[in-house]
Amino acid sequence: MVRYGIRTKAFENERITANMTVVTRFAPSPTGFLHIGGARTALFNYLYAKHTGGKFLLRIEDTDRERSTQEAVDAIQSGLKWLGLDWDGDAVSQFQNAPRHAEVAQELLAQGRAYKCTCTPDELAAMREQAKAEGRPMRYDGRCRDKDHDPAEGSYVVRIKADHDGETAIDDIIQGEVKVSNAEIDDFVILRSDGTPTYMLAVVVDDHDMGVNFVLRGDDHLTNAFRQMQIYDALGWKRPTFAHMPLLHGADGKKLSKRHGALGVEAYRDMGFLPEAVNNYLLRLGWGHGDDEIISREQAIAWFDAKDVGKAAARFDADKLSHLNAHYMREADSRRLMEIIWPELEASVGGNLAANAQERILAGMPGLKERAKNTVELVENSAFYARTRPLDMNDKAAKLISGDGQDVLREMRVILENAAEWRADPLQDATKAYAEQANLKLGKVAQPLRAALSGSNISPSVFEVMEVLGKDECLGRLDDALERA
Ligand code: GLU
Repeated sequence: MVRYGIRTKAFENERITANMTVVTRFAPSPTGFLHIGGARTALFNYLYAKHTGGKFLLRIEDTDRERSTQEAVDAIQSGLKWLGLDWDGDAVSQFQNAPRHAEVAQELLAQGRAYKCTCTPDELAAMREQAKAEGRPMRYDGRCRDKDHDPAEGSYVVRIKADHDGETAIDDIIQGEVKVSNAEIDDFVILRSDGTPTYMLAVVVDDHDMGVNFVLRGDDHLTNAFRQMQIYDALGWKRPTFAHMPLLHGADGKKLSKRHGALGVEAYRDMGFLPEAVNNYLLRLGWGHGDDEIISREQAIAWFDAKDVGKAAARFDADKLSHLNAHYMREADSRRLMEIIWPELEASVGGNLAANAQERILAGMPGLKERAKNTVELVENSAFYARTRPLDMNDKAAKLISGDGQDVLREMRVILENAAEWRADPLQDATKAYAEQANLKLGKVAQPLRAALSGSNISPSVFEVMEVLGKDECLGRLDDALERA
């Protein structure tokens, strides 16, 4: 039905001209959380607006009263804020514009560009049956189009008087020139019998009234665009520039579903991802800048152009997101990371929280953030700094502090007690000297120490841990470990 073509140079950016302010929008339906595909659409709209010095607007498409919830509106807005995709002005509620949509439908009626249709459900069902029998899609046959409306016939819907001649071409920024024969576009409903607007009308009126001139959205809306063109043309309104991007697919090439990770952005936050990692990851889904993997917000704004979005569906790959997250964890400010993990950490440590837990975590953060792939791991890995003595030991740690480990700990305790300077480097030197003299590999000494100090067989550098914990706490933890034997 829809024919794709090659974009010609002459068409490129035909409507957005240099001295025009670009106005984009994100128009989610609040029937669930802000899922990852929607977040990408929002990001691309945001970036294109910023790139061109334009505006990025938010419209909540809440006309479906049964499926729209305030909870979903809140989730979408907090998801956008978490991602740092701040919209210009106040969010617009589509439902609140319903009187204006109805007014436009009346205007179209008055101008003869729309008509009242009194077809009954039975008539429409028969039309549908016939189309099915003939193996073609259902199209309203226009039987009320040229008929005078008789008020005695009761309720009516308003249908657009579509132009059935010729063809409609969209010069889509991403898809290229796409054409459809107007014979395929029927006289669709713009106002229901209860006076409420259909989605098709509401989108056009809102985009026009909000001054939106650049519509960047999923290509599941491409067929809608041809119908929307009919409304723009009937009203004599300037059409926006369209950019329809391919939807996200899962790693298996199928349309992204919950199974693939099509979760709400808050689920990614709860899984321990940082917003900058999610943004960077989403940015690279269907758009790229050479081989660059790590792209900051500033660079993205400088480089992003909607025309560079690919025509092939991008695949969601959770491993890549994890990899990027580990990078951003290493780069992140230590205090910010502590603030992110603190509520969780406090809850998990409970009554065993040390008075100076925050200072310790902050001091230990350089080592911690090197090793944690996400903030959930960071909570787990920092708990030993936050806890009071005596620590719980995991099985491996318990084993490390037993047997030969006990001898090492006893001797190291004496050395550490007499350490002249409590800093990681000299403590490491002292430990090395002991290992050499005892004819032990450094690991044989460091591992029992790590177990005693962290309760685990895995931790940041044990010398860094010593410095962060301080002398008294370290010696106390060694005593606890010696007493356990
Ligand atoms: N509300 C539509 C959706 O969530 C988007 C409509 C549009 O972008 O034009 O899919």
